[in-house]
Amino acid sequence: MSSDPSTLQTVQENWQRVYAEVADAAQHANRPLKDIQIIGVTKYVDAPLAKLLFESGCQHLAENRPQLLWDKAEHFAAQGLTPTWHLIGHLQRNKIRKTLKLISYLHSLDSLRLAESIHEEVVTQQLPPLPVLLEVNVTGDSSKTGTPPSEAEKLLEASSKLSGLKVCGLMAMSSQHGSVDLVRREFAAVRQLRDQLQQRVGSQCELNELSMGMSGDFREAIAEGATMIRIGSNLWKSIGV
Ligand SMILES: *Cc1c(COP(=O)(O)O)cnc(C)c1O
Repeated sequence: MSSDPSTLQTVQENWQRVYAEVADAAQHANRPLKDIQIIGVTKYVDAPLAKLLFESGCQHLAENRPQLLWDKAEHFAAQGLTPTWHLIGHLQRNKIRKTLKLISYLHSLDSLRLAESIHEEVVTQQLPPLPVLLEVNVTGDSSKTGTPPSEAEKLLEASSKLSGLKVCGLMAMSSQHGSVDLVRREFAAVRQLRDQLQQRVGSQCELNELSMGMSGDFREAIAEGATMIRIGSNLWKSIGV
C-alpha cells in the first residue's frame, strides 16, 4: 500500500495540512513558528509509511515503544536516511543499551533509577550526554505516567548532576477529554512548573523545551508555550491505519 502513489499523496497532504494548522496556531499565539518543533508520531504505521512522512518533510519522528523504534530506525538507516528520533514512551532499563545510540531525545524520564542507568550506559558507550525531558503528571490521574509535580524538583536536581544526561525540559499530557479550558490550565501548569524549576536549579541546566500537545490539543499547548508537539493520528488520516 505504501508504494501506491495515492498513499504518498495522502501522506503529503496530511503533513501539509498539519503544518499549516500548526503555523496558524503559532500565529494566534503570537509565537514564531520556528520555535515549535513538530514531531511526527509513527507508532500507528509501518516503516515504509513512516518513510513517506519523512520524505514529505517531517524530519523529527517519534515512537512510544523502544522495540518499534529500533525496527523503524534500522529500516531508515538501511536506506541511508537519518531522521531525528525521539522516544516518547517508557524506556525499560534492559532496553537502554540499544536505544541510546538511536535517539536524539528521551521525553519520558520519570525516575532517578532510570536516570542513573542511562548515565552509566552513556559513560560506558562514550556517547555525548543524552537530551532528556522530565515527564510530569499534571492531571493528577494516577493511571497516567510521569512523576508528580511535587517530586519533579528532587528528580531534576539529582538527574542534573549526572553527566550522561542533559535535562532540557518537561513533557506532559493533558487529560485530553477535558474542556478546552481545563486543557489550557493543565498546560499552563506545566509551563509554570518549568519556570519554578528553572529558578531552583539556576544555570545548572536550561529547561528550554516544553513537549506538550498531541493531535487533539496542540493549539492549547502552543498557546501555553509548547516547543515540541507530538502529532500522530492527524498525520495518518485517510491512510486506513
Ligand atoms: C501516541 C502518542 C502521541 C500522539 O497522539 P495522537 O493523539 O495520535 O496525535 C503523543 N504522545 C505520546 C506520548 C503518545 O504515546
